[in-house]
Amino acid sequence: MLLKSNINDLKKILKSDKVLSSKEECYCYAQDSTNLRNTPMSPDAVIFVESIEDVQKVLKYANIHSIPVISRGAGTNMVGACVCEQGGIVLNFSRMNKILEFSPENLTMKVQPGVVLDDIKKLAESEGLFYPPDPSNFKVSTIGGSIAQSSGGASSFKYGTTKDYILSLKVVLPDGTLMKLGSGTVKDAVGYHLNQLIIGSEGTLAVVVEAELKLIPKPETSSLVTAYFKSIEDAIQGVNTIIKERIFPATIDFMDSNSIITVEKFYPSGLNTKSECMLIVELDGIEESVNSQMQKTVHALECSNSTEINCILDEADKDRVWTSRRSSFAASAKLGVDVVTDDIIVPRTSLSQMIKSCQRICEKYNLTLCLVGHVGDGNIHPQIVLNLENDDEFKNYQDAKAEIYDAAIKLGGTISAEHGVGMEKLSYMKQTVDENALEYMKRIKKLFDPNNILNPGKIFKV
Ligand SMILES: Cc1cc2nc3c(=O)[nH]c(=O)nc-3n(C[C@H](O)[C@H](O)[C@H](O)COP(=O)(O)OP(=O)(O)OC[C@H]3O[C@@H](n4cnc5c(N)ncnc54)[C@H](O)[C@@H]3O)c2cc1C
Repeated sequence: MLLKSNINDLKKILKSDKVLSSKEECYCYAQDSTNLRNTPMSPDAVIFVESIEDVQKVLKYANIHSIPVISRGAGTNMVGACVCEQGGIVLNFSRMNKILEFSPENLTMKVQPGVVLDDIKKLAESEGLFYPPDPSNFKVSTIGGSIAQSSGGASSFKYGTTKDYILSLKVVLPDGTLMKLGSGTVKDAVGYHLNQLIIGSEGTLAVVVEAELKLIPKPETSSLVTAYFKSIEDAIQGVNTIIKERIFPATIDFMDSNSIITVEKFYPSGLNTKSECMLIVELDGIEESVNSQMQKTVHALECSNSTEINCILDEADKDRVWTSRRSSFAASAKLGVDVVTDDIIVPRTSLSQMIKSCQRICEKYNLTLCLVGHVGDGNIHPQIVLNLENDDEFKNYQDAKAEIYDAAIKLGGTISAEHGVGMEKLSYMKQTVDENALEYMKRIKKLFDPNNILNPGKIFKV
């Protein structure tokens, strides 16, 4: 808990219009996009930092006074990664939202942490370039939050995740020290890659204040193939056959029948609600290559017993399909009081088994499940509808979640592919991560943040 004197000090150190401290204002920053059973504590102050120097001043002060500091982008993470465990200061990056440099020649862009991914994508596209990482909510999520969560998305199958597009970072350490990590060149074999340590560290090691991104040329064209199936096994066989045919789609996404029906109920767009599941395959490249990939993809899907295949070339129709897929979370939220989305990954060869386990487990616990996923990667998002305030339903959900994680680990997978750990998955870390590796993670945390002020209570307890 911050004292009044701390708030006054912070208002003096920074301009007072950068610091919010009323109960009502701070309450707005108590939540993120995670549906939690208990409302977490509000921060004691929210600071709208405007420069690297502002961040340095706040951290230096907070470190001396042992005050927790929680960085916040758009607050859209789904694991309680930017809620306050014990109050403290929220660093709000919405005013550090400038694109600082864009070099189409070098295929690089330098940005402040509060820049929204969509702005990065649009500027890159204006010069025929491409920033691939695409969490489904890329129209609102920030680059700072995406770096901290190592966000992925539909295009990870071909293009990788955020970690593959960071050339260098500027970070501020808890004592206010500014550190540059990485040279900004495309290749760099000098010393340890500390920038990769920061990516995915959920704001627990350092605060990102600038990032230099790698861009790639934008594929000339793309087309979509949607395919419907009578069984999960057929759909996953479709995925494997496409890959066996040496086709490399930009994305291979999946929706189960409940997701299709739910999306059609609230945002109708003409998906086939009579099928067990569907695949959305995006192919990109030069036109001749896309045409040939499309023919091979259709053949692979036919061989896998697809009941309906559509080739979609028109931009508006492609948009319509992607909007349906990206609306599945919002649509399933309308089915009940709350919806919680999870994020697990298994080797692709175990995918049908994993999807069926999720269905069986949710049925056993009487929970409504809408399941979508980036199945090219083996990554699925079970979206479970329930009332978190209902004790029985909550207990069922907790038991179901534990069984789903258990199944994923037994199948050689893990409990998060792209959403991170935050507060939500912290208690499963021991069961998921090698004991010695976990010990080293804790040592690294102590080295970077000896007073444990940066986003305490996330990933693991120290
Ligand atoms: C509808 C929906 C769909 C989604 N789909 C996907 C998806 O397909 N793939 C995927 O990977 N994720 C997905 N997500 C999760 C979310 O989009 C990502 O985690 C996102 O990139 C977080 O960005 P943010 O700006 O909202 O970060 P926040 O939620 O504000 O913060 C996330 C983490 O980053 C830390 N942080 C923020 N800024 C900084 C900084 N400057 N320095 C250090 N740490 C910082 C925070 O402390 C916190 O730990 C989805 C979320 C929603 C709501």
